[in-house]
Amino acid sequence: MKLKFEYCETQEEVRKHIKECEGKHIQQVVYSTFHDALTQICFGCKKVRTNMSNIVEVDLKGGKF
Ligand SMILES: [Zn+2]
Repeated sequence: MKLKFEYCETQEEVRKHIKECEGKHIQQVVYSTFHDALTQICFGCKKVRTNMSNIVEVDLKGGKF
């Protein structure tokens, strides 16, 4: 499955998307304390939403961000 990357400016924005997908889509939410960034992986939207600015590639297999 190919996931599209979507950059959100704030964590609040990411949270808004999480709320919208809740109960409708299968999603995974990752919080990185190191980057102070919130990342939502939504398999319903086929999108990765994050406020992490320096993300270049999402490696789902390795689970690394
Ligand atoms: Zn969704």
